[in-house]
Amino acid sequence: MPAKELINPCMDCKDAEFDITVRQRNLCKSCYKYFIAHKVHARMNNYKPLGLNNPRHQLLLPLSFGVSSSVLLHILNADRQRRLDNGRLIGYDFHILIVEPSSITATGASFDQNYEAIQKTFPTFNFSRIPFHSIFDHAPEMEEIMREYAGPQFTDDSSLSNKERLAAFRASISTATSQTDIDTILLTRLIVAFAKNLECKSVIWGDSDSRLAAKALAGVAKGRGASLTWQVSDGMSPWGLKFEYPLRDIYKAELLQYMSLCPELSDIIIPDQAPSENVLTKNLSIDELMLRYVQNQGAKYPGVMANVARTANKLESSTSDAASTCALCAGLLGNVKGNTGVTVANQAEDNLSSQFCYGCMRSRPEELC
Ligand SMILES: [Zn+2]
Ligand SMILES: [Zn+2]
Repeated sequence: MPAKELINPCMDCKDAEFDITVRQRNLCKSCYKYFIAHKVHARMNNYKPLGLNNPRHQLLLPLSFGVSSSVLLHILNADRQRRLDNGRLIGYDFHILIVEPSSITATGASFDQNYEAIQKTFPTFNFSRIPFHSIFDHAPEMEEIMREYAGPQFTDDSSLSNKERLAAFRASISTATSQTDIDTILLTRLIVAFAKNLECKSVIWGDSDSRLAAKALAGVAKGRGASLTWQVSDGMSPWGLKFEYPLRDIYKAELLQYMSLCPELSDIIIPDQAPSENVLTKNLSIDELMLRYVQNQGAKYPGVMANVARTANKLESSTSDAASTCALCAGLLGNVKGNTGVTVANQAEDNLSSQFCYGCMRSRPEELC
């Protein structure tokens, strides 16, 4: 067959006009999707099939209806489908957990349609949809930890519903940075507890390279440098299951590009809110500020931001079995001699700082910044 006459052929297949330039390569749409998916598959190689008679790895994929986790699900689903069609072995199964977005942020919106769309698009998966306040059911130990953490000025009224109790606890934390910080920890604890109840061995998070870089920078700013290892690197978390970040080599802008090529995702994904010019910078949390910074700078200098996440992924955990860890976030306690080097001024002897780390102490209700 004579070759097609192409003006600007795709550099990979050379069989179609190029549509997208990615990392100095001009690719057609399908080669672009393959390019992105390949980066995920390379990361998922840890979960190769172990043979016909061996059990598959059981993984949990938390899904926020955001771009990154939805694209991750799309890529993993396509790989699974391809394997099934070709009669190849599958190394892992995953369960999808949706912590109801309306129970995290009071948007007034219902996400029923997104939920219906995702079940329709990915009918072969098991989904669970749980509210944020079900943390009291899935991780009952959190009740006491949260009460201790909030301190005497916070009264936990056990006659209230779980929803009201969680709302009261969250309302007791005053700054935007601390609220985002503590919400992230509570969500992680909920997701971990859910994964453990399902006997999953790993949680696969949908954080892009950009998000990981923002987490690394914000973590340091918030005094949480010691727990960066499991928040941004692949490996064992303090709760006995692994955390993996298979989108770590992909920029947020590249995920947006991938999304635009998959019309079936449009009913599922909640679009990112455009940064409002009216929001005062001082009302943004450090996490949001860092994410904006990384996305702006990443558009200009992607290599620099990639380097942040790559460097953070090389951090070695300094936890040992004997080290004391924070009851809330499992970070190392900075006041214990000889471990993190984090200085906790004037708090070393009190009871709270023997339970909670420096980062968590800074976000406590009475520690107003
Ligand atoms: Zn191509
Ligand atoms: Zn902590």
